[in-house]
Amino acid sequence: MTDSTIFEQIIAKEISADIVYEDDDIMAFHDIMPQAPVHILVIPKIKIRDFAGLQGLEDAFVGRMFKKTADLAARMGLRDYRVVSNCGAGAGQSVFYLHLHILGGRSFSWPPG
Ligand code: AMP
Repeated sequence: MTDSTIFEQIIAKEISADIVYEDDDIMAFHDIMPQAPVHILVIPKIKIRDFAGLQGLEDAFVGRMFKKTADLAARMGLRDYRVVSNCGAGAGQSVFYLHLHILGGRSFSWPPG
């Protein structure tokens, strides 16, 4: 029995994921229940619960993670896309391990639901 989140299990390669990018600090993989034709999740390898936890990370690391997210969107061929991080259950967070969603390949409405 483990109390680690599903994303920690993906980092540890205990469960498989369709990984599109990985280095020592960052991993990105396809969302298992895509909400758009392109739906990638970008996560830090250091355990952070949610977006608010970015406060505990080095500025350079946060910058790298955001730049890598933009880079991955470009590599996926996306020009118009959305980057989302749900922070807290009330905002729709279901996996309590920081992740950025990259959503693209369709049009989006605003405000989000
Ligand atoms: P959130 O609801 O913002 O916390 O987003 C969590 C996301 O993780 C959802 O879009 C899920 O579809 C996705 N997800 C859950 N389990 C997996 C998995 N094993 N592999 C890839 N994505 C997953």
